[in-house]
Amino acid sequence: EIVVDDQKDSYSKILVPGSDREAFGSCPMIRDWANVGEYPSPLQATGNVSNFVSNHETVLVDIVAHKENETVSREFVRAGPREFIAFHPKTVKACIVTCGGLCPGLNTVVREIFFTLEKRYGVEEIYGIPYGYKGFHSKKLQIRKLTKRLVDTIHYKGGTFLGSSRGGHDTQLITDCIERYGFRHVYIIGGDGTHRGALKIYEEIRRRGLKVALVGVPKTIDNDVPLIDKSFGFDTAVEESQRAIRSAVVEAKSGIHGIGLVKLMGRHAGWICVYGTLSNRDVDICLVPEVPFELEGPRGLYQTIHDCIKAKGRCVIVVAEGAGMDHMQTGKEVERDPSGNVKLADIGLFLKAGINAWFSYNKIEVNLKYIDPTYMIRTVPPNGGDSLTCAILAQNAVHGAMAGFSGFSAGLINTHNVLIPIETLNNTKPKTIHEGSRMWQRVLDSTGQPSLRSH
Ligand code: ATP
Ligand code: MG
Repeated sequence: EIVVDDQKDSYSKILVPGSDREAFGSCPMIRDWANVGEYPSPLQATGNVSNFVSNHETVLVDIVAHKENETVSREFVRAGPREFIAFHPKTVKACIVTCGGLCPGLNTVVREIFFTLEKRYGVEEIYGIPYGYKGFHSKKLQIRKLTKRLVDTIHYKGGTFLGSSRGGHDTQLITDCIERYGFRHVYIIGGDGTHRGALKIYEEIRRRGLKVALVGVPKTIDNDVPLIDKSFGFDTAVEESQRAIRSAVVEAKSGIHGIGLVKLMGRHAGWICVYGTLSNRDVDICLVPEVPFELEGPRGLYQTIHDCIKAKGRCVIVVAEGAGMDHMQTGKEVERDPSGNVKLADIGLFLKAGINAWFSYNKIEVNLKYIDPTYMIRTVPPNGGDSLTCAILAQNAVHGAMAGFSGFSAGLINTHNVLIPIETLNNTKPKTIHEGSRMWQRVLDSTGQPSLRSH
């Protein structure tokens, strides 16, 4: 039982008395800084009344307890439709923006926000902000009203129908735009950078005392968003990665001393590589950003590839884009993209050259094929599971905004939907792979790779 209702006296036994429930579970509400009314939800007429969620329900985060230790769980406000809402739907003008890199499912989220607002709540004015944050203030870009016709079929397509971009965040200009248009709901779909920007807009909204619900929907194909079970697009990415890995296996099996090398996404967290490797089960070496490896020496990568070729006649390697960065320090100044993210050197090309050079030096014939499917993976539409995740996140984003919450992101925790304060999300470390974890052990068991380090 991981849902707690403090009005029904159903506190979980693992909560010790006096634990700071309020601080963990609280999610900002507009009434804290602006006047809001209370209106009966239009869902009262159309929906199943028992579906309404009370503001007193929270979801526990830490559900693994140890008998000998007192466990205090963090908790978040449960997402879902409320019986009474803070906005009269006819007064709501909403806008939606997508920021950062592409990820399968962006269009599904946009479409579902539109239809939940329009069909379920009767909101009439919903706008699309073009090309990310800069669309709020660039004179060259046009904010346009969304219609059913415009968004009806976008979920069948990859990418983002609204457009996206990096850079261009200006808190004052964006908030000015929100005020000028009279937006009451602002839906922001994006990753860690986007959420850092969203928090600044939220703080400015509060400072100005605006009656605005600012809502995030977390997006990262890498699956490293903290706290939540899984981010949308990740499952699709793993599924698509199989096509690339299978091609690498076929190439490796078909050539003399074949080596298949696949680079997958994962700047700071190697989840796609790990899940891709575990799904495929023919991968011999999996390299992720969190686990350092050596290139040279008797336990290094090159010798391990050689050992694998001697044993099996081939070697299949999967590498995350952020793995092995310590091998590529060129002494040059780091390059950054317009959002301020460090531009990573290409580990795939680096390894391709390094492996070929090592075997050539040792006068051993190899046939290496390098596959980089990044953009082919990012741009596909979401699979069935991800589509459903997108739809549910979007619906809960709208229900939360309608209820008068602001400065939160919709997320799934322990299979339950919650509202996570953006500040908490931004202040929590991203989900990464731990070398001592059972997940990494599964990778080692599946690949049979050694530690790739001399100590
Ligand atoms: P992903 O990493 O998955 O592509 P992201 O949201 O992290 O997604 P970024 O390009 O880093 O992508 O950021 C998206 C937007 O957020 C950009 O418009 C950028 O200007 C803005 N942004 C990033 N960091 C900040 C920050 N610290 N303050 C304000 N805005 C920011
Ligand atoms: Mg990012």
